[in-house]
Amino acid sequence: MTGLIVAKFGGTSVADFDAMSRCASIVASNQDIKVVVVSASSGVTNYLVRLAKGNMPTNERDAILAHIADIEFSILKKMGNKPELAQALEHLLNELSAIAKESELANSLALQDELLSFGERMSSLLFAEILREHRVHAVNFDVRQVVKTDSSYGKATPDIEQIKHQAETLILPELPHSVFVMQGFIGSDEFGKTTTLGRGGSDYSAALLAESVQASALQIWTDVNGIYTTDPRLTAKARPIPEISFDEAAEMATFGAKILHPATLIPAMRSNIRVFVGSSRDPEAGGTWVAWETEHKPAYRAIALRKEQVLLTLKSPAMLHATGFLAEVFTLLAKHKISVDLITTSEISVALTLDEPTNGNSRKITPTLLAELREIGEVEIEEGLSLVAVIGNHLQATRGVGGNVLSALEKYNLRMICHGASAHNLCFLVRSDDAPGIVEHLHHCLFDN
Ligand code: ADP
Ligand code: ASP
Ligand code: MG
Repeated sequence: MTGLIVAKFGGTSVADFDAMSRCASIVASNQDIKVVVVSASSGVTNYLVRLAKGNMPTNERDAILAHIADIEFSILKKMGNKPELAQALEHLLNELSAIAKESELANSLALQDELLSFGERMSSLLFAEILREHRVHAVNFDVRQVVKTDSSYGKATPDIEQIKHQAETLILPELPHSVFVMQGFIGSDEFGKTTTLGRGGSDYSAALLAESVQASALQIWTDVNGIYTTDPRLTAKARPIPEISFDEAAEMATFGAKILHPATLIPAMRSNIRVFVGSSRDPEAGGTWVAWETEHKPAYRAIALRKEQVLLTLKSPAMLHATGFLAEVFTLLAKHKISVDLITTSEISVALTLDEPTNGNSRKITPTLLAELREIGEVEIEEGLSLVAVIGNHLQATRGVGGNVLSALEKYNLRMICHGASAHNLCFLVRSDDAPGIVEHLHHCLFDN
């Protein structure tokens, strides 16, 4: 392990010239930051996602392209006269516009990923120049040469060995001389085609890159000063957590805390890289350190909320006293590449939750899957649900935990409860309409005293 640091700046941190300049000051003031990973400027990926659907009326498409150009050029404008940079930006925007007009776009996931990559490519181009203005010897590096993935466009799986090899060949030898500015979120497959790691994936990119250059720390700079006891948008009482263990933070990310992409901590844990989360608006305010050991291990650390859940219940009276029911169900789900989050079972039924984002490109519960499930038993599907997770330590072995949570929520219908499988979480499924109120009330009961 080296002393070097990888710093990642999220969308709001690189939203405009002033925000980028604040991030540049963070990099310029710490010589150990040798690798910088940037997201697309805030809002740009959302625009690109709309464009990527294809088949859009010309005026709507042109309006979106104009909004994107506006975000990028207003950053450039504040940088003074930079003809070469303007040309490079113009080139990227023209390329983007050509892809947005491709007739194949709606049917080609590969083309959609290519289109989605432009947000990060434009922000790294601009950010590298702003760093140079802060007297940092910065190079804008195309991360697709290093972040090699499979060809699952839209949510590609990184190839850890290849990433390590590419980083050792292309990045490490140059690090003594330069700061590498790279794009989060994107990679490339064996055919050289652009891939993406899924929404919010820049955190994951940064962690993969930190692992591949053997960094000692990964800094995630965002719009809040650390990981909070719950999403500060859900309650004004949420407060930053100074230190949290990998296990707890990983549970938070898995259970929907948007502050970290769910896979971010996997490389950090595997390679023992400390992770810091802080606000690029207020770098002096401190933030959260994520590490193996924490000084305090409170029973309750945080509450996470994961929206857009579906509960699938499968019932088969024929399975009474029979064996192999669950094996059959899970074999089928695995065949359809469905990962299940929570399950509860009884002798003749099993209920499980799935992530089913309403704006997702691909529905998980397809007609084929349903037909195959119906061959096993009666299927019921409930939508409009959210998962609330209480995260902490020794929850399964601490007296009163279940009682505290349940009595706090006596007014609500808890559709399903999972407790005991992990020492770090207690989760329950509730109606999405109730979820924000539940988080706020539970936060009050568990943390505000
Ligand atoms: P970035 O663009 O920097 O990646 P994100 O919007 O993806 O930023 O993540 C930061 C946001 O995550 C915060 O503004 C906050 O609303 C949300 N969030 C959700 N859960 C938490 C939590 N437990 N602590 C802090 N922020 C959280
Ligand atoms: N720009 C991408 C997104 O908005 C990746 C990221 O910001 O992490 O999802
Ligand atoms: Mg994010």
